[in-house]
Order: sequence, then structure tokens, then C-alpha cells
Amino acid sequence: MLIVQKYGGTSVGDLDRIENVANRIAKARDGGDDLVVVVSAMSGETNKLIAFANHFTSNPAKKEMDMLLSSGERVTASLLSIALQSMGYESIAMSGRQAGIITDDTHTYARIESIDPSAMQDAIKKGKIIIVAGFQGINKDGSVTTLGRGGSDLSAVALAGALDADQCEIYSDVDGIYTTDPRIEPKAKKLDTISYDEMLELSSLGAKVLQNRSVELAKKLNVKLFAKSSFSDNEGTLITKESNNMEEVLVSGVVLDKNQARVTLRGVSDRPGIAAEIFTLLAKENINVDMIIQNMGTDGSTNLGFTVPQSEHENAKVLMASFDHDIEGMDFDNKVCKVSVVGVGMKSHAGVAATAFTVLADNNINIQMISTSEIKVSMVIDEKYGELAIRTLHEAYELDK
Ligand code: ADP
Ligand code: ASP
Ligand code: MG
Repeated sequence: MLIVQKYGGTSVGDLDRIENVANRIAKARDGGDDLVVVVSAMSGETNKLIAFANHFTSNPAKKEMDMLLSSGERVTASLLSIALQSMGYESIAMSGRQAGIITDDTHTYARIESIDPSAMQDAIKKGKIIIVAGFQGINKDGSVTTLGRGGSDLSAVALAGALDADQCEIYSDVDGIYTTDPRIEPKAKKLDTISYDEMLELSSLGAKVLQNRSVELAKKLNVKLFAKSSFSDNEGTLITKESNNMEEVLVSGVVLDKNQARVTLRGVSDRPGIAAEIFTLLAKENINVDMIIQNMGTDGSTNLGFTVPQSEHENAKVLMASFDHDIEGMDFDNKVCKVSVVGVGMKSHAGVAATAFTVLADNNINIQMISTSEIKVSMVIDEKYGELAIRTLHEAYELDK
């Protein structure tokens, strides 16, 4: 089999752990598999590099940031290859460029445009284990780009697609996808399988166990994707196409996203184009708007609420100030969080949302915003009740059973 494996920051967090990963790779290789291994930077390394840059300015050039941040993954890739070679295995470390990954020009959040797998295929033919520095590629001008935080997951899935690999295994410190973050709710249960769509909701709603863009791509390319632990030989979770029996499960998981800030605009002029102006301005500044709620207008004005990432809270404030002639009052709150309930079974069952609202009400938790899709219900609440909400929702949907 040709397997793409990806080891995250915690799995390669120090030299002993890199050695542990080398041993696991060696074992798979001894079993006869061809391996392309994608690695993250050692845990904390990317944050450390960002902090170094912020020592000089809070707004470093994104192109320089990509040059800087891509170095973390290169360190791990080289060390892992050196470790394997010292054990007598033939391996080669590659940067994103050497692995043939071409992206667009969006520095620090680039999209993969194409992959030329020929260098990797040549090395595989020669019997080498390939170790690729994750999270990076180059644009058409040859500048290094990075793929957004958590982007090594995306590198792995994209390479699995380009190489037509038999499967892609994402290794972290948890042995699969759980009904909720096991760090918040120790009673969380591991799922044997989960659909791409449910996983995409979980990731997009804040479960960082898999980067959302990687799940989206896995679905598109139909990559057989596993989440596993680098610290055990447990089975893991298969992320796959939806099957009929998945619909029997009403709710497959609950998610907490602490990285949310709420913006409420009161008395917004109720005229065509105002929403377009507000959200175009936010989009121009690359601010990702999540939940948007607008009421029916009365007496020529309406209320508009939305959420942005906490890091963009101050930026949003500044941008909204330019609308003061169109808006009576503004309210900003970054002490909020979003709790979400996800499950494909919701498509065919009523009452899932009502249960969530009741559970929060029973715990005296006020819901500030609600948004729903076919397979999820999300609620914005006070940040201090986030973990309590997750635990009580987890129990209410009997996810611990
Ligand atoms: P890596 O550094 O290897 O990429 P991450 O830290 O990005 O790993 O992802 C693993 C973490 O995801 C776990 O430590 C866990 O706390 C968190 N997590 C959040 N939600 C879930 C979930 N539903 N199932 C499993 N892990 C989850
Ligand atoms: N090192 C990068 C990050 O911390 C990419 C990754 O780990 O996937 O976001
Ligand atoms: Mg990750």
C-alpha cells in the first residue's frame, strides 16, 4: 500500500518523540508499505516564531512571515529523515517546493493550486521513505507560502490525492474523533466512523483535531482519511462518505469554539445595499464573518448581528466606526463562545434544536445568537458557560452512552 501519514506538533514535540515517530514509520516500512510522511513543526514552534516577529512589529509582512514560519516544518522533516537514516532506512526530506506543491499568492493562507508528484514518485520507486515539510508550498514566482494554521493536515490530504495513495493517516495526541473534545469532557466517546460532512462541520465549528480545509479536500478527492494517535496502536476513526446507518445516529458530536467575538449593530438604515457594504468592507480586510443575524426591519431600521474571530474584534470595531451615519448604536463583546451540535441524523429528525435550547435554559444559560443548517445547530453564549454547555449537551444527547 501507499500510505500518506501526517504527524502533528505534539507527536514530534521533542527528540524522543521524533524517535518514536521514526520507529513507527520503520515498522510500517518493514511491513512492506510505501510511505510519504508529512510533518508539522515541533509543538509551540510556530507560535514562538510568530512571537519573534511580533517583537519587532504587530503587523509583519505576510511574505516574510511565510519564509519564517515554513522553517519550523523543515526542521522536523530534516530531523526525522536523519533519525530514519541513522536506523538504516533510506529516506529523503523534502520542502513543499521539492514535493511539487504550487499554491496561489495568498501569503499565510495560501490555497494549493496544483501538485507535481513526479519527484516524490521517483523517490518512492527508488525505495525511499519521503518526509515532507507540511504547511507550505511555493507560488508561481517561487516564493514560499504557508497554508493557514493547522495546514499540515491539508498538505497530507493534498499529497494523498496527488499520489493516489491508498489512505491518509493523521496522527495526533488523541486516538480518533470523539463526540466532543476529550479534554473538556472526559466521558467523550471515540467514533469508529464519521461522515466527511459531519467532520467538516466539527472542524469548521472549532474542533481543531482536523483542519477544516483538509476535510473539505478529502471529501472532494474521496481520500480515505483516518485520525489516529502517535502514542498508541488503537484503531482510530475513519472519515468517509455518508452511509445510511449514519442517519440513525441523531447527533454525532458537540463542539466548543472559544475564538468568537460578537458584533451587534442597532438601528441600521434599512436600505438595499447596506449589508453588502458592511460585509464587503470586512471581507476586504480578510475578516472571516461567521454567524450573521438580521431582523425584519421596522420604521426604516433593523438590527444586525454577526460574529468574527476574537483576534479580529478590534479591527471590526475600527471598520464599523466608518458606518456611524448609517447605524444608531454598536455593541462589541469578545467574552462569548459558540457551542454547536452536529449530526447528519438531524436531516430526518425533528426536535434536536429544541433539546439544545431546553438544556441551556435548564442551566440558566442565555442564548445570544442561533444559527442552523441541515446538520448543525450553533448557539452563541457567554464565554464563562462554554464548557458547562458542552458537558450538559453531551449528556442530553446521550453521547456518553
Ligand atoms: P496536532 O498538533 O497533532 O495537529 P491538534 O492539537 O491540532 O493536533 O489536534 C488534536 C487536539 O484536538 C486534541 O488534543 C483535542 O484536544 C482536540 N480536539 C477537539 N475536538 C476534538 C474531538 N471532537 N475529537 C478529538 N480531539 C478533539
Ligand atoms: N505548524 C503549523 C501550525 O502550528 C501547521 C500545522 O501544525 O499543521 O499551525
Ligand atoms: Mg492540528
